[in-house]
Amino acid sequence: MKLTSVVAQLLLAPLALAAAAPGVGKKISYDGYKVFRISTHHDAAEVKDQLKSLTAVPFNLNADEHLDIAIAPESLAAFNALELDAEVLHQDLGADIKEEAKFGAYGGVSANAVPSLTWFNTYHAYADHVTFFNDLAGAFPQNSEIFNAGTSVQGRNLFGIHIWGSGGKGSKPAVYFHGTVHAREWITAKVVEYISYQLLTKYSTDTAVKAIVDKYDFYIIPFANPDGFVYTQTNDRLWRKNRMTRSGSSCVGTDINRNWPYKWELTGGASTDKCSETYKGLAAGDTPENKGLVAFTKSLQASKGIKLYIDWHSFGQYILLPYGFDCSARASNHARQTTLATGLANKIRESYGTRFTYGPSCSTLYKTTGSSTDYLTDVAKAELAWTIELRPTGSSSSGFILPAAQILPSSIEQWEGMKYLLATM
Ligand SMILES: [Zn+2]
Repeated sequence: MKLTSVVAQLLLAPLALAAAAPGVGKKISYDGYKVFRISTHHDAAEVKDQLKSLTAVPFNLNADEHLDIAIAPESLAAFNALELDAEVLHQDLGADIKEEAKFGAYGGVSANAVPSLTWFNTYHAYADHVTFFNDLAGAFPQNSEIFNAGTSVQGRNLFGIHIWGSGGKGSKPAVYFHGTVHAREWITAKVVEYISYQLLTKYSTDTAVKAIVDKYDFYIIPFANPDGFVYTQTNDRLWRKNRMTRSGSSCVGTDINRNWPYKWELTGGASTDKCSETYKGLAAGDTPENKGLVAFTKSLQASKGIKLYIDWHSFGQYILLPYGFDCSARASNHARQTTLATGLANKIRESYGTRFTYGPSCSTLYKTTGSSTDYLTDVAKAELAWTIELRPTGSSSSGFILPAAQILPSSIEQWEGMKYLLATM
C-alpha cells in the first residue's frame, strides 16, 4: 500500500483516459497491455524510477519484493529494453478481459426457485447478481431474507442476505461477510455467493451445515461497493474505489477500506491524494457506503455481537489477521487467531493444494489505516476480524482477471475452509 509518488504518477495515466472518455459507457481498452511481475530485488524505488516514463497501471500496492504492473502497448518496447527480471501474468490483458466478459445468461430460473449451480461457471452482470440473491432468499423464506445495510453514492442498495437456523431470525451471534469493497476484485462476490448457496441448499440434508447455521446468524453483503463494481463492467475493468466525486478534483473515488472511523487519522497506511488508489477521504467515515456499513455493524454488535467478520478481497492468497495500522500490535486473542488461521489454511489446501499465507495484516502484507478489520476488532469487538485475499497468488498466473474456470475451485476451497472454521471457532 505504500504508494510512492512514482506509482501515484503512473496511476494518472488511466485516470486521465477516463476523464477524456466521451460520454458514459465509453470503455477503457486494455487491448495489447501486457502484465508483468517484476522482481525488485528489494530495490523497488530503483525499479519504479526506471518505469516512470512508461504508460502503465500498477496492480499491487506493496512493491517491496515484486511489482505487478500492466504496460501499455506503446510502452512495451521501452519496457523490454530495460531488461528487468520479470515474468508475464497476462500476455494480453484486453483479450483476457474479453474472455472474462463472456457472462452466462441468468434466465430460465423462475422467481423464488433455487438458482442453478451453472451460476458459478461464469461471471455475471450486476443486475443478475441482484436477481440471484432475490431468488436464493425467495427459495428459502424460512431461513433467509434480503436486507439493506445502506446506500451507495449513486443510490444503489448495499444489500445482503441474512441466513439463520432453528433458533429463529436474529437469535445468534453474527457471522458477517463483506465482498467487493474493491470494485475490480470480482471473484469475491462469487465466493460469498457460493457460501450463501451452500449454507441454504445443504441445511436440510447435511448435519454439519445444519449445525453451523443453527449456531450463527449470517449477514453476507456481496457488494460493499456496488457503484464501483458496475463501473468495472461499463467503463474500466481495473477500477478499485467507490464513485464519489470531491470538489476541486477531477479524480473520482475514495477507498472505502481506508475510510473506516478507526485509526483513520494515522499516516502511512492510506493516501490523502484524491487521485490515489488508496485515497482515504476528507474525514473518517465520510463516504455514504461507509456510513451505512458502520451503522449496520453497530446494529449487529448491539444485537448478539459479532463472532466472525471477513472482508473478502483478491488477490494474493492471504489470510490477514489484525492489525493493519501497526505492524507490532497484536489482538488480545492473537494466539487463538493464529491457531484458527493455521487450521483454515490447511483446510483450504486440502481441496486443490492452494496455499494461503497467514499472519497479522501489517507485518504480512502492508500497513493500512481506516480498514474494516481494525474497526471490527477494536470498535465493534468482533472475536475474529480477518481479510482474505483470494486467488491467484499472481505468480505465473493472472491477477484481478481470474479465469472463469477458477470460480468454482476458488469457491469450493473457501467453502471447505469455512466449514472447518465455523465448526471450530
Ligand atoms: Zn481489495
